[in-house]
Amino acid sequence: MLRSNIEEHVKLVDSFGRNIDYIRISVTDRCNLRCVYCMPAKGVEYFDTAELMTFEEILLFIKAASELGIKKIRITGGEPLMRKELPWLIARIRQIPGIEDLSITTNGVYLEKDARSLADSGLDRVNISLDTMRPDRYKNITGGGGIDDVLRGIRAAEDAGLLPIKLNIVPLRGVNDDEIEDFARLSITTGYQVRFIELMPTRVNMAESTGKLSNVPISGMVSADEIKRYVEKIAPIYPVKLRRAGPARYYRFDGCEGVFGIISAVTCRFCQECNRLRLTAVGALKPCLYSDTQVDVKTMMRFGATKEEIKKLIIIGAELKPQRHNIEREVSLDAMSIIGG
Ligand code: SAM
Ligand code: SF4
Repeated sequence: MLRSNIEEHVKLVDSFGRNIDYIRISVTDRCNLRCVYCMPAKGVEYFDTAELMTFEEILLFIKAASELGIKKIRITGGEPLMRKELPWLIARIRQIPGIEDLSITTNGVYLEKDARSLADSGLDRVNISLDTMRPDRYKNITGGGGIDDVLRGIRAAEDAGLLPIKLNIVPLRGVNDDEIEDFARLSITTGYQVRFIELMPTRVNMAESTGKLSNVPISGMVSADEIKRYVEKIAPIYPVKLRRAGPARYYRFDGCEGVFGIISAVTCRFCQECNRLRLTAVGALKPCLYSDTQVDVKTMMRFGATKEEIKKLIIIGAELKPQRHNIEREVSLDAMSIIGG
């Protein structure tokens, strides 16, 4: 049960006492890449454009959420930079009172073009997904992407002051795990915060649930402990506490400023600290990445729901948050690109 009612809400507290102050919003299910662990090899069927939340709907949703104590918004996708006029949306979100932290997760391919206007619109930071530093490998993992576009995008983000640059890497056994040390060294040689993310099971990479073998079965996951062992080959590492670390555990090498993080969503769940909800590109509010239950915010909006009514839907979304995900038992997540990772 929620502890407070709408009138006095400044904090959204879920049924297990967790303070929910963060929402990830997917602005599109489309993507210009086809990462092997994210998109089904056969491709995905996209929703009709009319099904996607309009920017006005997204803004109304965030206004309602901010009045419930949501402080942090991350824009994701699919590839969020495929959504035209994204800087317009960022500038409007920036004006919403109470939103203190505004970031996006992107594959970086279009970032060179957009970094400056995103920064000028008030974006705080970007997380850029980069699973390899090798051009041929990048092409293979992403289904044809060009790494130079991403490298130029990273530089443009730095020049635009979207700092600290965070790089997301999903290590995959036999695919890019030999680059874990190289990526960890980047945290020393650059100011980038490198974050290693355990491969999470989806219907794309769970051969069992689809009956078909996919390019990267979940057995390709490199666990947080293994990642640490790779990194410790360079030098001993020490845990560091960062403000707004989210689910990542951060470390640094002795005597070095730079930090890197490990996000162990699978082997060491962090559900007890989970502070987030997710809004899909088609306006479904998901209490957990792995929840089957969701609240259809968009349909209610299109039937004329007011901001106060949307607040009630968000409270229901928070109440539906499970105590913990149960990915060992069943995987109902189709592809990360659909929900927004
Ligand atoms: N297209 C953007 C990008 O790639 O950064 C944003 C959306 S993408 C779904 C967000 C993040 O989810 C990326 O860092 C990606 O590596 C990660 N991701 C996708 N599928 C994943 C999976 N099965 N397990 C862990 N991370 C995954
Ligand atoms: Fe696209 Fe991001 Fe998924 Fe790669 S991880 S296919 S870039 S949505």
